Order: sequence, then structure tokens, then C-alpha cells
Amino acid sequence: MEVAIMGAGMSGLSCAITLERHGIKPAIFEKRNRVGDRFVNGEATFSILNRPIKDDLLHLKENFHINLVPTDTVKKLVVHSKNEVGSIDGTIGYVNIRGRHQNSYECQLEKQVKTKINFNSTYEYEQLCKEFEYIILAPGDGEYAAKLGNYRCDLTCTIKGATVEGEFLTSIAHVWFNYDIIPKGYAWLIPFSESEANLVIAYPDYPNNIKLDISTIWESFYSTACKDLDQNFRITDRFEITRYMMGICDKPIIDNTYFVGNCFGTISPGLGFGQFASMLTGIYSAYDLCNLGKYEELVKPLFENYNKSIILRRFLENLNDNNIDLIIKNLDNKLFNGIIDKVCSNESQLEVLKVLTPSMTIWNNYKNSKA
Ligand SMILES: Cc1cc2nc3c(=O)[nH]c(=O)nc-3n(C[C@H](O)[C@H](O)[C@H](O)COP(=O)(O)OP(=O)(O)OC[C@H]3O[C@@H](n4cnc5c(N)ncnc54)[C@H](O)[C@@H]3O)c2cc1C
Repeated sequence: MEVAIMGAGMSGLSCAITLERHGIKPAIFEKRNRVGDRFVNGEATFSILNRPIKDDLLHLKENFHINLVPTDTVKKLVVHSKNEVGSIDGTIGYVNIRGRHQNSYECQLEKQVKTKINFNSTYEYEQLCKEFEYIILAPGDGEYAAKLGNYRCDLTCTIKGATVEGEFLTSIAHVWFNYDIIPKGYAWLIPFSESEANLVIAYPDYPNNIKLDISTIWESFYSTACKDLDQNFRITDRFEITRYMMGICDKPIIDNTYFVGNCFGTISPGLGFGQFASMLTGIYSAYDLCNLGKYEELVKPLFENYNKSIILRRFLENLNDNNIDLIIKNLDNKLFNGIIDKVCSNESQLEVLKVLTPSMTIWNNYKNSKA
């Protein structure tokens, strides 16, 4: 069987590992000159977003023999709002490295692939279709899917970030929801060592936001983060991404082409998580090719998750700073603290997003009727 994988990232490499395990040697095409050839950044996966699966890394290891070593487990997520700060405590997920770093997830996956990767590839999709029986489209965005009329883009985002030097505990991540500074968006700090972290802002490109000056927003947030963490961070690297697409394909397979990773629609519009789902789409496409399952069936929960995540995005956008302050204030409230920590922990299987979707829908409808 002649299979071409376009893109050696999270989904493409997961597909390659799975195909190889079942006796199929794919041809892997990567347009860059090495795996993970981009800025280094810290990313996270939180168990609460992948339910009913409890622990994503354990799931990958036990079920698909894919081994990934994170930077650390997240034992505390500090949540900052305009006037409040609260935290979720306990083992709630993992932080990891991405990009041009020897321990990045994509570099760890590359080590588990036996097939030689064709770097600096200039192959276009149409060319691959002529030469291969099956194509796995894994280029990390929805552009190819959109060109094929198979992608609905729900929003695009502006992202600006930096690597900062300071003192960090790798088990503690921070997130900020402060619409005064970042309208309808959020920011995060994810350490990737005890002395380096990633500080990032992200917001949707709505007409009112497009008018804003990203440098001003960034400076304002940077000062807030330094103040909140009582440190004067030194910036050592910067990156900026414009019009980062969040959307989903209509069909996961068309003829002999499988849409995987962000090209399928694995990036969740609610909070921008996509690593775990990307790997699952890569694995599931390989399962389909190996006759171990049907891709359309296996990805059904991912479609459902995406749709719930869109509702979460609209819900978050319908809040104001006062509402968010109230939620964050209650994170450390004696009554709720234990429940929230338990529900967010790697030990829980509760599908929180599913449970909350009806109430969020009611809130969204109420807000829309008032608008
Ligand atoms: C700043 C930022 C922060 C994020 N933070 C998180 C987070 O904390 N947690 C989380 O779960 N997710 C996060 N995500 C999302 C997550 O990184 C993605 O969902 C995931 O990497 C998508 O995997 P993929 O396989 O689709 O693409 P990628 O892993 O990006 O791989 C795509 C590969 O395809 C290659 N390629 C592109 N075009 C071609 C072509 N024409 N031919 C050949 N190769 C090509 C690229 O060079 C790349 O190597 C974040 C994303 C960004 C941008």
C-alpha cells in the first residue's frame, strides 16, 4: 500500500508510527528542513478537556504504544482575572515543549518513526495524489481542506508570545482572562524549565479587535504578568502568528485523502488545545488504512468535542470582567475548592464540557437575545 503523509508534526508522525507498527511503510514529506523547525514554546494538555479519557499520555502509551515525556505534570493552574486570582490544585495535566528543542513532542515522536523523512519537500497535494494510493493531509492548518471545499473556519486568532527568563516551578502554569487588556481573549504562562517560560496572548480577530494595536496589548499584558508574578521577566525570543485558523472539516475522508490534525479541525476553539486530538486523528487514520477501525466512526467524538468547544468559546466571549472575577473568586471558596480540584484532576472521568454545554447554551441564547 502506497501512503504519503504530508507534514511531519504531531498528527503526521503519530500516523507514521501507527502505520509502521502494523507493517505499512509510509512516505513522509515535510516542507521544513527538520522536525519541529519553528520557535520553541511550552504547551499543555489538561485532562478535563479530553474526557472520558483520564490521562492522555497514559492513554497513548497503553493503547497505541506512543511514548511521550512531558516537562512536568501540572499540579497547580493559577487563574488570574482583572481583580481576582484563584487556583486549581492537584494533578490536572501536563506541560511539554514544542518546536526546535531536542525534547519537544515532535522530536520525541520522530525518534519513534523508522521511515526516513523527506525534508525540504516541495510536493503539492495534487502531485502526491498522482503518485500515491492514499494521502494523509497533516500540514498543521486548514488551508488545504479549505481549498478542497471541506473546511468551515469559525474564527481566526492573533497570537503574540515570547520566551522569558525568570524563576519558575515547572509544575505551575498560569492563565489570565482580563478583557480590559485582551478583549475576548486570554493569555498564559507555561514554563519549559526552571528558568524559561512561554508568555503568550491570544485573541479572536473580530472587527473591534482588528482595530487594536497588538504591541500595545502585549506591553500592557507583559507589565501585568511581571507584576502578578513579582518578577521582571527578560525576553529572549519573540513570535507572532496572525490569522491562526480554528475550524473543522466537513468530511474526515474524501476519496483517498484523510484530513488529520489541525487540517481535520483538532484545535479546540474554546481554549486552543489541539495536541492530543491531533495525535488521535493521526492514529485513527492509520487504523482505518490497516482495517482496524473506520476513521469516520473513530473521529465522531472529536467532532462532538469541537462543537462543544465552540459553545464554550461563545460562552467565554459573553462574559465580562465582573462575571469572570466572580468565577475566579469562587475557585478558592471553601465550598467549591475541593469539588473543582477533584473534577479537574487526572483521576476524574467526568465529561465536564458535556455536562456544562446545556447551561452555556442557555446563557449564550440569553445574551444573544439581549444583543
Ligand atoms: C502558540 C500556540 C500555542 C499552542 N498551545 C497549545 C497547548 O498549550 N496545548 C495544546 O494541546 N495545543 C496547543 N496548540 C495547538 C497545537 O500545537 C496544534 O493543535 C497541533 O500542533 C496540531 O498538530 P498538527 O499535526 O496538525 O500540526 P503540526 O504539529 O504543526 O505539524 C504540521 C507539520 O506540517 C508541516 N507542513 C506544513 N505544510 C506542509 C506542506 N505543504 N508539505 C509538507 N509539510 C508541511 C509543518 O512544517 C509541520 O511540521 C497551540 C498552538 C499554537 C500556535
